[in-house]
Amino acid sequence: MPHLAQHDKQRLFSGRLGGAGLGGGFIRAVELPSRAFRSMGTLAGITLGAAYADRIESVAEHIRAIFDRMEREMSAYRPDSAISELSRMAGVAPVAVSEDTFRVLDLGRHFASLSDGAFDHTVSPLASLWGFNGSRVPMAIPSDASIRERLKLVDYRRLVLQDGTAFLPVQGMAVDLGGIAKGYAVDRACDYCLGEGIEDFLIDFSGNVRAFGRPSRKEGWQIGVRDPFDGSRILGKIALPGGQAVATSGSYERFVEIMGEQFSHIIDPRTGYPVAGTASVTVLAADAVTADALSTAFFVVGLKGAGELLKKLSSVELLIVPDRYPADLRMTPGLAKILTTPKNARRSRL
Ligand code: ADP
Ligand code: MG
Repeated sequence: MPHLAQHDKQRLFSGRLGGAGLGGGFIRAVELPSRAFRSMGTLAGITLGAAYADRIESVAEHIRAIFDRMEREMSAYRPDSAISELSRMAGVAPVAVSEDTFRVLDLGRHFASLSDGAFDHTVSPLASLWGFNGSRVPMAIPSDASIRERLKLVDYRRLVLQDGTAFLPVQGMAVDLGGIAKGYAVDRACDYCLGEGIEDFLIDFSGNVRAFGRPSRKEGWQIGVRDPFDGSRILGKIALPGGQAVATSGSYERFVEIMGEQFSHIIDPRTGYPVAGTASVTVLAADAVTADALSTAFFVVGLKGAGELLKKLSSVELLIVPDRYPADLRMTPGLAKILTTPKNARRSRL
């Protein structure tokens, strides 16, 4: 994958963002073995410490296989996936799912309950009403009545998980793991690398990044945070602590346009409307699935609800960029410590 290879700060901050991430991207100063590939309809990348150069081919192949398997099981875009089967069988019968799919469904429930339903992986009926998930973009903004109808079908508490099976009790309910599956996949890929005895590596799956060790003796892993107002630039860079993960959710990447207005692909499951007011959210957490799910959750609660959700979490750091130009970076103290920004950047406490 094309990485930034720039040493001087000036050029770094005006430079193009390298890496596969749509929300982030890995910045490095030295040449390292890396591979990029497509999976789940997006870009993924793996980079190893220089000492592992001769293993990059095999490691990349294995990780690609892990990601592709997750896609086959969890993609709502594939009619033959277990998740599509689960939605098709809503109101009819439970379906058997793999251990990974079971765990992702269960983790989704965990983050949904933690965020009081801001994250809700049963949001799909609303997402498709607004023209996401492969459904047709409506000609006009959906009516309140149609939103109310769909809201009745969205509730993570009704998802039944039992003995390796999953069940949606009402016909029309559907699951969408787009806000959590990539993070989970990154964690499994990290398990694989660690199991192979690789100590220095970074995995980036569409802005879900987790890294271990360090790229070289002289430096740590640096992650670019994409500028939501200009996708070719970065707002700053995060010195990613070993073992931890970052994820970015942005409204700049995927949206629909209805009657000239843009609507974000993240839906507030409590109101039924696409979320407005936030340009991007970056979460630092102990693992990639947490960072992924929480980036979506914080995107939904926005600046207003961030403080309350943060109180329930430990070891999570947060950066929110409200949807107002020029970018105003609002962040927790822990994130401020590891985020470097250009001198003229506007940054303040959350
Ligand atoms: P991306 O996948 O675009 O990098 P996110 O991780 O923020 O970004 O996930 C957004 C995806 O999550 C949407 O495309 C949709 O599939 C799903 N989604 C949308 N709204 C919610 C929500 N409130 N809770 C859980 N998942 C959501
Ligand atoms: Mg997410």
